[in-house]
Order: sequence, then structure tokens, then C-alpha cells
Amino acid sequence: MPTEQTTRRRIEPQSGTAFELRRGETLRVVDVFGEQVADLIAYALDDRGEWLSSGRSIDYNDTIAFTAGHTLYSNRSRPMLAITNDTVGKHDFLYTPCSRETFTLLYKHSGDHPSCFDNLTRSLADYGICGDQIPTTFNIFMNVAIDPDGRASVLPPRSRAGDSIDLRAEMDLLIGLTACSAELSNNYSFKPIDYEIVRAI
Ligand SMILES: [Zn+2]
Repeated sequence: MPTEQTTRRRIEPQSGTAFELRRGETLRVVDVFGEQVADLIAYALDDRGEWLSSGRSIDYNDTIAFTAGHTLYSNRSRPMLAITNDTVGKHDFLYTPCSRETFTLLYKHSGDHPSCFDNLTRSLADYGICGDQIPTTFNIFMNVAIDPDGRASVLPPRSRAGDSIDLRAEMDLLIGLTACSAELSNNYSFKPIDYEIVRAI
């Protein structure tokens, strides 16, 4: 059996980061203290016009309830990330990353507010990605309930301290990842998110 090499890093509360994830490597996202969402976006490393697509992923999995066994697809219908392990089983792929406008329009917040969109834009700028290129994110641990009439509501995450999800890269990727800044999504308490890159050596 090949040995796994693991590097653990921390995303501080209400911040974000970007990094490369090579094909075959697994990204493990860990909720350190529980009830904390992490927004994830991915781009093909060699062509940033190829990005993680909520719509394509829903199409090819016939579900909006993504968990272990599902594969997330790009806008060009190629597999990007395979979910290989998931201790929570409740994530969202419908909502966009929280943004300044989310807080103004939805939550009637006045003034500045940290957001996943700003944190992703800032982190991905180093890789030549601008805000207009950030689509719907895969919102890890975000708990969205859908009523039979279609109404969507955001509930506290089901994740407890130490819960995690593993996503294996199916191609070379650029990843953007946050510790979410939205009060409602995180049960009104902001915490860090840890992530590991697991690779065979
Ligand atoms: Zn957020």
C-alpha cells in the first residue's frame, strides 16, 4: 500500500485561500469546531474557462444531495472532484458564495461585511481569476432545507467538531476555499476550517 502524505492547513474565521490540487490528490476539508461552512470552487489548472458546475453536477448525479459516491463535474461535463468520504452527508450546491450584496439585500446589513465572494476573489486574483468568473460554489457542510413547495431555507450545519469530507481530484485543479462569513449559515458563530492535501508518495 502506498503511504499517504498529509499536509494540514488552517483557514482562519471569515477568510479564504487558493491552492493547486493535482489529479489523484485528495482534498480533505475538516470542520474543526463544528457548525462551520466552507465554500469551495474549482477550475481546471490549465484552462480557467473550465470551472466546477452546479448545474452539470446535478444533471449527471440526478440529485441535489451530494455525498460520498457522487462526482462533481465541470461546465464542460468532465469529472473534477469525486467525493470519496463524507462524515456529514449534508452540503449545498444551490447557493452562491455569500457576498457583500447577500448581506445588503438579504440580511439588510449596512456597511462592510466579510464574505466568501470577496475572500475567494482576493485569493484567486493571484491566479488570474476575477469575481465574474466565480459561479455557484459547492458549500461544504451548508444545511439547506427544501420544502415540498420549493421554498429553500438555511439551517445550522449538521457538522460536529472533527467532521470531514474527502474530495479526490479527477484532473489538475485550482481550488478556492473559505471559512464562511455568513451568520445564518454558521449558526451565528465564526470558526476556522482546516484542510489537508492527501497524496500517495
Ligand atoms: Zn459564505
